[in-house]
Amino acid sequence: MQKENLLGKTIAELEALMEELGEKRYKGRQLFKWLYNMPGSNFFKMSDLSKELRTKLEGNCSFIGLDLARSLKSADGTEKFLFALNDGLAIESVLIPDGPKRTVCISSQVGCSLGCKFCATGLIGFRRNLTVGEMVGQLLFLRQRDGLEAFHNIVFMGMGEPLLNYDNVVKTIEIISSELGFSVSTKKVTVSTVGIVPQIYSLADSGLKVNLAISLHATSDEKRKEIIPVARSYGLKALMESAKYFTHRRKKRVTFEYILFKGFNDTFNNAKELANLVKDIPCKINILAYNPVSGLSYRRPSDEEINEFGKLLYPLAAAVTVRKSRGLDIEAACGQLAGRYGKS
Ligand code: SF4
Repeated sequence: MQKENLLGKTIAELEALMEELGEKRYKGRQLFKWLYNMPGSNFFKMSDLSKELRTKLEGNCSFIGLDLARSLKSADGTEKFLFALNDGLAIESVLIPDGPKRTVCISSQVGCSLGCKFCATGLIGFRRNLTVGEMVGQLLFLRQRDGLEAFHNIVFMGMGEPLLNYDNVVKTIEIISSELGFSVSTKKVTVSTVGIVPQIYSLADSGLKVNLAISLHATSDEKRKEIIPVARSYGLKALMESAKYFTHRRKKRVTFEYILFKGFNDTFNNAKELANLVKDIPCKINILAYNPVSGLSYRRPSDEEINEFGKLLYPLAAAVTVRKSRGLDIEAACGQLAGRYGKS
């Protein structure tokens, strides 16, 4: 009989497991803490569980993380990890150091169905949603390698659209933020979406105090549809209303991401339109340069052009940050993740 892998199980699921094993439900909480909060422990080390229960767990269950297939380190310290999944598919995560803090960018799907025109993941097409275990596994790998300070911020901004794997992402956030689990405050967790409006409302109503980042990248519906096909279903008006609802419900600013493509969305008029679009929404705007993807024809603006756009926008919008691309030399920057087993 194959052992059940407990990676990705929530407290409620482990409590139910305890009942199945003829034990008291509360022991599920103890098990949860051992699994996620004490990396490196095994069933026999779980000293507050009876020997009998430990033997049952060892006989019926496993706790197996992800297989690292390859890792690359950028000149700027950014690391990219390629994980091989059980069904032969692969995903990537990125760890970005910023002074003493580190941000980990995790994947939520293998490939992506949305086919944004600037994105390497979109070129793969959709393979499948990640399980909770596969999302948690990306974090567990780092905790096991680097300990409790492995990362300080978590962003669902790797491969895939997290709001299209909503239920699993929510469960993953529960494990991340539980004091018995990874114990990372939801204030340090950001869900990044290209604009799936119904799930923005769901996230706002979920009670999870996570941050929301919305990829805008264009200031009119026509232009947005050119690069983000799902914008045909969710126009800017509906998207802005959902963003406003989120800020109202969660009492939090949202972040708008704006990738700058040379000659596409980088004029003074675009800056004015962008400021106008978000003017009623408590927000900050991140300006990023397009990161080249082989096979795609968009052009990256120069650093001076990016800074210039930031300066144009800054007096018009409340909070503007020009963000540096990280991990460009190892194709780990935004939009470059493809989960390929290629040359290293
Ligand atoms: S940008 Fe995000 S939503 Fe668009 S194709 Fe890439 S992974 Fe999917």
